Amino acid sequence: MDLGIAGRKALVCAASKGLGRGCAEALAREGVAVTILARTESAVRKTAEEIGAMSGRPVQWLACDITTPEGRAAALAACPEPDILVNNAGGPPPGDFRDWNRDAWIRAIDANMLTPIELIKATIDGMIAREFGRIVNITSSAVKAPIDFLGLSNGARSGLTGFVAGLARKVAQHNVTINNLLPGSFDTDRLRITLESRAKAAGKARIRPDASAAPPNLAPRAPFCAAHRPAISSGRMC
Ligand code: NAD
Repeated sequence: MDLGIAGRKALVCAASKGLGRGCAEALAREGVAVTILARTESAVRKTAEEIGAMSGRPVQWLACDITTPEGRAAALAACPEPDILVNNAGGPPPGDFRDWNRDAWIRAIDANMLTPIELIKATIDGMIAREFGRIVNITSSAVKAPIDFLGLSNGARSGLTGFVAGLARKVAQHNVTINNLLPGSFDTDRLRITLESRAKAAGKARIRPDASAAPPNLAPRAPFCAAHRPAISSGRMC
């Protein structure tokens, strides 16, 4: 199916591996001009080269921490007017809420709520003016089915979901959509670290992730949400 997004420009955050990388690959396959970022230069450069070789289109890259104002400024300098914005960042650590202080909460809210909101704020008026914009937030199924030991994630991502729900309704008339991808368990480094920590807390040797849940199984939802004529409406959680 031609999604009608070839030639569009996408900024895909936190994409040297895992779900961000999967989304970047899926968009590149659709002919989108992709810019990816992650914190480690060697890793993000290597991923950009691999996606470029796979898709036959050069992939721009930069190394930055997207949760900082400097990182966001660098990302927007590299891809100033994205048609497609995929918001993503590392998830907060699992644990017991009794151990989290204010700083832990602020870090989670910064990374998983305020960072995407800042990037939306910086890009959405341009999208409205150009009458095309697709914003896709990688959040978590914990928004619909909260997980006890991921309280920081449950809280920060629910805040983002609430904010987006209001804004999405307002901007849809300008052909700008905002949708949230809600991964369950996908076999990435993040999931492995979370499961190891749970196994340790439960005194078990290891909890195995579902091997069928590879990042490519989530990634096609990103170009689908970015389609020229979106087959799903805005403000959805899928
Ligand atoms: P991952 O560890 O495989 O990959 C994370 C990517 O983000 C890496 O490229 C890393 O370099 C980059 N990154 C992390 N923090 C960054 C920052 N501050 N600035 C720039 N780049 C940064 O993780 P993943 O499994 O792909 O998870 C992506 C997001 O999806 C996380 O927020 C995670 O909590 C969430 N999530 C994942 C799952 C799952 O099953 N994998 C389920 C629900 C939610």
